[in-house]
Amino acid sequence: MEMDIAESSDKPNISYESIVRFFKAMETPGQCPICGTSSWLIPLKEKGSPVSLVASGLYFEGKPRLSLASSCNKCGFYRFHDVTVILRWLKANPLAEGVVE
Ligand SMILES: [Zn+2]
Repeated sequence: MEMDIAESSDKPNISYESIVRFFKAMETPGQCPICGTSSWLIPLKEKGSPVSLVASGLYFEGKPRLSLASSCNKCGFYRFHDVTVILRWLKANPLAEGVVE
């Protein structure tokens, strides 16, 4: 699967587990800047579906970027991550062979 959305306007399918793996690798410790909790909700249209992505409204070199929005489970503060960066990290940090995500 082509992982570079800069090549396409189609939304990539990213699993909930992949996003959790990305956040765990990035967060130190990932507290909400408003209320200080570390509990975030990752949007899924349905249980088991790929994570829900939104258009950021931003363009880089003429191409649209998608965002992953996750909300604080306590105060509702929204944070946005550039999906291009998430995909780049996932591609550079694949799961070991045989591991199911
Ligand atoms: Zn909060």
